[in-house]
Amino acid sequence: MSKKTMEFKAELKELLHLIINSLYSHKDIFLRELISNSADAIDKIRFDSLTHNELLEGDEEWKIKIIADKEKATLTISDNGIGMLIDEITDQLGTIAKSGTKNFVESLKKTNSNDYPDLIGQFGVGFYASFMVADKVTVISRRAGDRNNGVRWESDGKGEFSVEQVEKDKRGTDVILKLKDDCKNYLEEWEIRSIVKKYSDYVEHPVVMDVEREVPKPGEEDKEPPKQKREKKIVEETLNDRKAIWLKSKNEVTEEEYHKFYKHISRDWEDPLKVIHYNVEGRQEFKVLLYIPKKRSLDLFYKDLRNGLALYVRRIFIMDNCEKLIPEYMRFIKGVVDSSDLPLNVSREILQQDYQLENIKKNITTKVLNTLKDMKEKEYDKYCDFYKEFGVMIKEGTHIDFENKDKLQDLLLYESTKTENGKYTTFKDYVTNMPSDQKEIYYIIGDNRQHIEQSPYLEVFKEKGYEVLLMTDPIDGWVMSNMMEYNKKNFKAIDKGDVDVDKKAKKEKEKKEKEYKDLLEFMKNKLSNVKEVRLSTRLTDSACCLVADEYAMGAYMERVMRSLNQEVSKTERILELNPNHPLIELMQKLFEKDKNNSNIVIYAEMLYEQALLAEGSKIENQLLFTKRLNELMVKECSSLVQE
Ligand code: ADP
Repeated sequence: MSKKTMEFKAELKELLHLIINSLYSHKDIFLRELISNSADAIDKIRFDSLTHNELLEGDEEWKIKIIADKEKATLTISDNGIGMLIDEITDQLGTIAKSGTKNFVESLKKTNSNDYPDLIGQFGVGFYASFMVADKVTVISRRAGDRNNGVRWESDGKGEFSVEQVEKDKRGTDVILKLKDDCKNYLEEWEIRSIVKKYSDYVEHPVVMDVEREVPKPGEEDKEPPKQKREKKIVEETLNDRKAIWLKSKNEVTEEEYHKFYKHISRDWEDPLKVIHYNVEGRQEFKVLLYIPKKRSLDLFYKDLRNGLALYVRRIFIMDNCEKLIPEYMRFIKGVVDSSDLPLNVSREILQQDYQLENIKKNITTKVLNTLKDMKEKEYDKYCDFYKEFGVMIKEGTHIDFENKDKLQDLLLYESTKTENGKYTTFKDYVTNMPSDQKEIYYIIGDNRQHIEQSPYLEVFKEKGYEVLLMTDPIDGWVMSNMMEYNKKNFKAIDKGDVDVDKKAKKEKEKKEKEYKDLLEFMKNKLSNVKEVRLSTRLTDSACCLVADEYAMGAYMERVMRSLNQEVSKTERILELNPNHPLIELMQKLFEKDKNNSNIVIYAEMLYEQALLAEGSKIENQLLFTKRLNELMVKECSSLVQE
């Protein structure tokens, strides 16, 4: 057959144009694409030869060879894969527009160029990526078993290509790129080496290159000879590691190998806390290797943190940080997913890919949660170490991952009024230990255990012997705002709304309410920062405390929000008084005796300020507070002196 020139199909022209012009800053990937085509071609012949051994023509040393010719400025990627017939090459490289091409072109148009790397990762752009670096591409190929019919395909990527019959003595395909002037760097050994390392390190077949090395002269091989006894020689070197440990079965990988790989992908210098390695078979097949680090990385809360896992498709690197593979709250996890059935190139619908990725994500989420549950049950100390570093991520999960909320809730640990310092309980244990008359799960949020343990809110709970969870993580307020119940028991913040734990105290309070009515009203009118003054059932020792409305933001949460520079409107709170406290009783007596006594206002203000201190807030006019306190001390002291 004589040389024939044909035109690229219209859609391909558009694709070519877009690839060349918009993916310009990611040119490196052309090599990944060509190596991946070669690897596929080798997979095909390997498979076909299982039933047709003669196809091998005696050559089954699978190999992808990269040849850089600096004089001619050509880079050749040569394989001994299945090869192509002339009709195949005409169809495959020129006229068939694959079903996904259109989608890819559409997505490219819609995507901000910063996100191109992700898009390329998702699709692969195939053979045509060559035209980013080459102004002419020649493909010489021969189909396995078709000894006399080699084919030569050539194009400058501008719209036409030519095909002709040629001779080629070996099976396989050579893709020869005549590099553009500004792409000559791809002829350099180190450049090729680093691209292969980056994108194709785990390709199963060896990717080799001839390199010049100093080797011992003949007869000196066993020694470490000095320079004069060495000579320069061209040797073929394999550039890729080929050790995809995630593809091996668990018992084939040593702990040391797992850890080494972890350090390689995470840049962590410590060993991981936990390795999760498994294999999913069936309708969708993929392999997963995950690591839970020992320590948080510093960037865990950076806005721009790139989370996600590395995605491979049949050993070929697709992208780092694939966010679709793992929920955001598991961003501390490092690892690799290798899918057997995701498409490498533009050949399938994006939607379908999304659906497949979504399935993998679901599977990984469940696996991680089950692993943590297991660790909590069987290696509790190790789990506590994990929790100290990443508990906050689990909390984030309870707020976001509704589907797994139950599992996540069971992974939470909290200190409580009944645990030792630094020791934890769980919701489950809490509920199991609840006395039968206790209806709700009590908790309080604050800066630190020491402070909240002494706060007036706990008084009645201590007296009744009810356990209260002590929450001291800045994220707890946000988490609890979304946590309604556990095991049909409601959560109850003990510094909000009404508490109803002591029936007797409640009855007494109701009785006293009439008696105190006017004083309470009077105080409310004098204190402009509180919306109500009422009697309390939660206090036994303290005179007063401030509480928030049931669904309002608590004082601690307000402080957290402010520290994050968030605007929070000041919520007015309720001042609760302990009717059994001597000070409150005396104030009532004084009020009955002389409503207009100016001291009542001063006492009211000082009570409010005490309550502010008790909840950990600041007093607005600290100087006035100290001055008044001093005056009271002077009075007390002088009466002592006069005695
Ligand atoms: P994809 O690999 O997604 O199909 P490409 O544009 O990279 O897209 O390649 C198109 C087709 O050309 C391949 O599907 C394959 O049939 C053929 N092809 C490309 N490179 C080779 C090669 N090195 N050996 C054999 N066939 C190849």
